Amino acid sequence: MSSAAYKGLGALSESYERRIVLVGKTGVGKSAAGNTILGREAFESDLSPSSLTSECKKAKGAVGGRQVAVVDTPGLFDTNFTQEEVLKRIKMCISLSAPGPHAFLVVLQLGRFTQEEQDTVRMIQTTFGEDAAKFTMVLFTHGDQLKNQTIEEFVSQSEELKAIIASCYGRYHVFNNEVKNEKQTYRLLDIIDDMTTVNGGWYYTNEMFMRAEEAIEKEKARLLKEFEEQKQRELAELRSRYVGGTFHREETIVHHRYEVEARARAEKSNDFVKAPVIAIATACGATVGGLLGVAAGPVGLVIGAAAGAAVGAAIGAVSIQISDKCSIQ
Ligand code: GDP
Ligand code: MG
Repeated sequence: MSSAAYKGLGALSESYERRIVLVGKTGVGKSAAGNTILGREAFESDLSPSSLTSECKKAKGAVGGRQVAVVDTPGLFDTNFTQEEVLKRIKMCISLSAPGPHAFLVVLQLGRFTQEEQDTVRMIQTTFGEDAAKFTMVLFTHGDQLKNQTIEEFVSQSEELKAIIASCYGRYHVFNNEVKNEKQTYRLLDIIDDMTTVNGGWYYTNEMFMRAEEAIEKEKARLLKEFEEQKQRELAELRSRYVGGTFHREETIVHHRYEVEARARAEKSNDFVKAPVIAIATACGATVGGLLGVAAGPVGLVIGAAAGAAVGAAIGAVSIQISDKCSIQ
């Protein structure tokens, strides 16, 4: 595939579901922000170790007339995880947001901003692809700490914050997750819609997301076949109870339910998420190349530093394979 084709971004086919991926350090309020967006307790949000998000989770809802799917992640780039663990999480995150997210939200806690977090946008780029920054914005949490200050005043006092926001093309927003206030969500969705418009109405995608999507569709088809008999039994039952238009309405509901269920299950378990590192690496080319440190230099170092020294080092072996087989670079 040529690099021009690789840079081509996915068309907005299922026209209106917005897929949003929350990224950021553990404890900054990602799960709480996901709950604020969906207006319900979809994700566990707490500081107790037992409820810490350890894997990517997805939840959907209708918010202000829009269909929204939120993918909550554990600290993807947190230190002290093994290479295997980091890759497992990233694969799941990709699969749950396939065929690609409309927005990556870099979640930052007001008043808690570290060097590591300054690298987050770079990490997103090296993990998900260079163009991902065009689909990224900053979401501050703990808006209650602002008191009488505006978020603009707060941001203007920090060169580091200004820099990270600039790398997200100036897009940012603040949530107070402690209050139920839908307006803050509507504003966020407006910013995301503006970003989508600037991006030509497209969500972010690349070879890696497309591979995941293919694997999901394949698994979904397999599951639907597996469920077919059960579905036919349900339809027969409905046919015995309803006629005409009523039957057709019920029939459509059943078909839809099976589709949704098969898709949800396929996103969680498919050949893409099950593939060993090496297979993903060859499949995903440049993007994972970046993640794995193939691009070397600062990219490798950032990942190495953020994902733990073990990742940087151990992955070195894989990278040779990628540069040999990569069809993207
Ligand atoms: P995650 O690890 O990034 O998913 O963080 P959580 O969503 O689990 O939040 C960590 C803690 O911060 C929880 O105790 C939340 O209640 C708290 N928290 C999250 N957002 C806010 C906020 O906007 N204001 C306040 N005061 N607390 C928050
Ligand atoms: Mg969480």
